Amino acid sequence: MAELALASVTKTFGEVVAVNDFSLTVHDHEFLVLLGPSGAGKTTTLRTVAGLEKPDSGKVSIDHKEVNALTPAERNVAFVFQFYALYPFMTAYDNMAFPLKANPMPKAEIDKRVRDAARILQIEHLLKRKPGQLSGGEQQRVALGRAMVRRPQAYLMDEPLTNLDAKLRTSMRAELKHLQRDLGVTTLYVTHDQIEAMTMGDRIAVLKKGRLQQIGTPREIYESPLNISVASFVGHPMMALLRCRIAGDALQIEGSNVSLSATGSLLGAVKRATKQQVVLGLRSEDVTVHVSATPDAVPAEVYAVEPLGDRCIYDLQVGGTLVRARTDPEFMLNQGDRVWISFDSERAHLFDAQTEERIA
Ligand code: ATP
Repeated sequence: MAELALASVTKTFGEVVAVNDFSLTVHDHEFLVLLGPSGAGKTTTLRTVAGLEKPDSGKVSIDHKEVNALTPAERNVAFVFQFYALYPFMTAYDNMAFPLKANPMPKAEIDKRVRDAARILQIEHLLKRKPGQLSGGEQQRVALGRAMVRRPQAYLMDEPLTNLDAKLRTSMRAELKHLQRDLGVTTLYVTHDQIEAMTMGDRIAVLKKGRLQQIGTPREIYESPLNISVASFVGHPMMALLRCRIAGDALQIEGSNVSLSATGSLLGAVKRATKQQVVLGLRSEDVTVHVSATPDAVPAEVYAVEPLGDRCIYDLQVGGTLVRARTDPEFMLNQGDRVWISFDSERAHLFDAQTEERIA
């Protein structure tokens, strides 16, 4: 087990700056998720920690020792890829034992490690099968077992669940999280799937264009996104973003005559804004739909209805912008219905329209 640290790491490929002055510490035992859109630099960061890429500048440390000059093997970290890359002609047992055969190790010790890992992963009954005789989830567990037998200081995982179907992905998410907590191995996990990040990570680091946007617990990232990019990337349905102009204590939606009154924390943020142009962020659970006019509600029209069984998401047209509201499934509205909406000023988000930074 070990702490992983990157200090001002930059990695370029020709003109492309894949990782830009990036610093990050993954604490001992921690499960840290690197989250970001395609091309954000997640894989490059992971490969730099593994020693598969050499940074142009900056320092990579494992367990407080600089490892820039060490080979991947000398770093004693295990890499689990999106593609399991199991050897098709070897049994699950031999696939798992393979990394141990490179270094001389007594056969009995190899056997013990493989069987211990198989027991934890609940694949003892599958050890004689070849990859072609295993399901995707089982193959993924063999790949994890292969990483575990080395008893590495840390796991580096690059979208390991991407190739699984939706149902298996959900169950593997829970298994992997449980396993990581059980083993307590420091883990740096790459994904572009914000649900994976929110459900698995002790902390999430959000990356965009090679730069760190924000780092925090899933709750911090969800409740206080530091900029529009993080706000729109995390959360489903996506946060509604309304371009507004400050008019006294109210926010006028741009291009419309709809005026939203700001109270409480939102009013505080409105007063702290240094420019008139702002972006109001509303999550679906903070928007309330009314079937008749109420004092603080503004008129809206139902644009689309998404029933999800346990809840319903309504896409509502408000002043030319779409706002989403989450309601109980019993709340029945139809496309085209005229309604009114209000929102929770204590939970609304305000951003500077130009810098896209959160107004605290
Ligand atoms: P994805 O989720 O699509 O895998 P990512 O966030 O992992 O994306 P990287 O794979 O790290 O992003 O790529 C970051 C940038 O660096 C991209 O613009 C990519 O095209 C570029 N890049 C990565 N590897 C190389 C390479 N070997 N040669 C040239 N450019 C590269």
